[in-house]
Amino acid sequence: MRVGILSDVHANTEALLAVLSDLEASPVDRIVCLGDCVGYGADPGPCLDLLFERCDVIVAGNHDRAVVGMLDAASFNALARFAVTYSADRLSRAQLQRLRDLPLESYLEDLLLVHASPFQPEQFPYLQYPEDARVAFQNRDFSIAICGHTHVPLTFHTDDPAHAVRVSLNPQVDLTQGGRYIVNVGSVGQPRDRDPRASYAIFDTASRRLSLHRVEYDVESAFAKIEAAGLPQALGRRLLVGV
Ligand code: ZN
Repeated sequence: MRVGILSDVHANTEALLAVLSDLEASPVDRIVCLGDCVGYGADPGPCLDLLFERCDVIVAGNHDRAVVGMLDAASFNALARFAVTYSADRLSRAQLQRLRDLPLESYLEDLLLVHASPFQPEQFPYLQYPEDARVAFQNRDFSIAICGHTHVPLTFHTDDPAHAVRVSLNPQVDLTQGGRYIVNVGSVGQPRDRDPRASYAIFDTASRRLSLHRVEYDVESAFAKIEAAGLPQALGRRLLVGV
């Protein structure tokens, strides 16, 4: 079975449609989404509808929870807080309820699917450095976790977290090598690794290989929509450079 793994769409329809059309060219059996469907972008409602229509599993991100009041947005920066209010104002009661009902984590066979971290997922910690991943490896028993949240695709791998946690930027991840993994699939709608192309992954459950993909999309249109919606211009500008 081939599984498309998306994360951090952030209300960017242009990026989401580009990824879905890339997946149509290389068909998958299932699609999962690792949260942050909304926030930052101009199209929370259309993106949410599209994700609920196309995804088999969606887990909750911190922005999804903030929009429905399940997470205090006080810890968000000003731009993110603005976008939380914008999103909440543009979703129907039914859409808000669907966001409220999203689980914090799910499983794809033995792969743990979670937005931020396997350890204390409800607190949405950032796994940016090997030290961050070490905390997760040491405090929860899991073999392979797939996440998003930082918007930077990378893989943490360890045989023994007390000894070493390695980071890899290799877009091909071979999960047959033993040891434990946390794979970040990057962001569809707001990449932050200085590559503005939408990021997503395909996992093949038979070969146990995960590949990270990048797709060009109409960034200018997404930017223009953000401006026209009255959202802060910085939210559009960052899409142009992928930060
Ligand atoms: Zn996010």
